[in-house]
Parts: sequence; C-alpha cells; structure tokens
Amino acid sequence: MNKDNYQKVIDKIEGTAAKLVVVSKTRSVDQIQSFYDRGQRMFGENRVPELVEKNDALPKDIEWHLIGHLQTNKVKYIAGFVSLIHSVDSLRLLVEINKQAEKNHRKIAVLLQFKIAKEESKYGLKMQDLADFRGADYPWIIFRGVMGMASFVEDKNQITSEFRHLKTIFDDLKTNYFSPNNNFTEISMGMSGDYEIALAEGSTMLRVGSLVF
Ligand SMILES: *Cc1c(COP(=O)(O)O)cnc(C)c1O
Repeated sequence: MNKDNYQKVIDKIEGTAAKLVVVSKTRSVDQIQSFYDRGQRMFGENRVPELVEKNDALPKDIEWHLIGHLQTNKVKYIAGFVSLIHSVDSLRLLVEINKQAEKNHRKIAVLLQFKIAKEESKYGLKMQDLADFRGADYPWIIFRGVMGMASFVEDKNQITSEFRHLKTIFDDLKTNYFSPNNNFTEISMGMSGDYEIALAEGSTMLRVGSLVF
C-alpha cells in the first residue's frame, strides 16, 4: 500500500461528511489486510466472484461495496453479506435485489447509478428511466443515494460540471422520491484522478483505488 497517499486522502476527508471506500479490485487478500490493519473497513470490488472469495478470506467486520456492473443472475451470491451496491443501473436489477434481499431476510442498501459522463458510458440510469419508479415497490431495499463516474479527461471544468450534475440529480430525487426517507444521504463520486474535485462538489463517498495501492 502507499501509506502516504492513503494518509493524504484520510486527511482530506477529515471533518467532512465524506467516507473513503478503498477500491481493492484485482488486489490480493494480503494487500487488503494491510489497509484493514490501519483501520480501513470499507472496500469496493467490481466483480462478484472476486468479492465472494475475498469476503470468505477476510475479517467479517469488513463492509463490502459492489461498485461495478451487476448482472441480475449474480445478485444471489452477494445478497447475504454485501453492505452497499453502488451500481444499480436498471429497474430490473432492483426487482432482483429486492427478491434476493427478502430471501435472505436482510434489507440491502443501494445507490442508483447515473450516466453523467459525456462519453457514451455503457451503464447508468437516466432520469427518464425513473418515470414509473416507486420506492414502495421495493420494501427490502434501502435507497441510500446516487453514484456516478465522470468522463476520463484532463479538463477539470468538464469533470466539475459532471459532478455538479450528479449533485443536482441527487437533490431532485431526494425532493421528489425520497423526502421522508432520511437514509437517502449518499453521493458516491470521485476516484484516484478526480477525488479532490468530487469532494469540493459534495461527494460523501470516494471510491479510490490505484492512488492508495
Ligand atoms: C476501479 C474503479 C474505481 C477506482 O479507480 P481508481 O482510478 O483506481 O481510483 C472507482 N469506481 C469504479 C466504479 C471503479 O471501477
């Protein structure tokens, strides 16, 4: 691990509402353990088989976040332990998460992933996808907020405006769909290259990988 960079991110979020999810995809169990030993508890993975394997191998008080695209037929493998699914990109997936949560008798927390990048990204909701959305249709799901990824560009103004767009979506959803729901608090945005911009734009969850390894 890169202790200096890790500490730098920790220092940056101190006193803010933001939390750090260390993105541990492709990293070994030993590498993850060294973050754990320094007190890190939230880790993000993007592939289900890898997440299941690491959950089996590592301490049980780790909070595992699924941050990558999730296929409906794989929800069942993580429904028993996952602490937050960042990457809900269709209502079909919500139906399946709700079903598997009920089977496991545990509510599952999710973020709705939105397309905010200019480049045509494959995954993510658009506002119009929620036209028929009713939170009450998913009694086993806890809606915690939104997630998005900015374009992979150097232009800081573009990244800023994309994060600002996600914040607007968050405010809009909170007002129109989740106002009585005080669980709806999270804006997951910011990675190694753009986490400082994301923090300035109101991120509450940074997903940082390469910078801290
Ligand atoms: C890999 C990944 C990250 C972390 O990216 P880094 O640039 O390594 O910090 C964050 N979010 C998602 C969705 C990812 O797939």
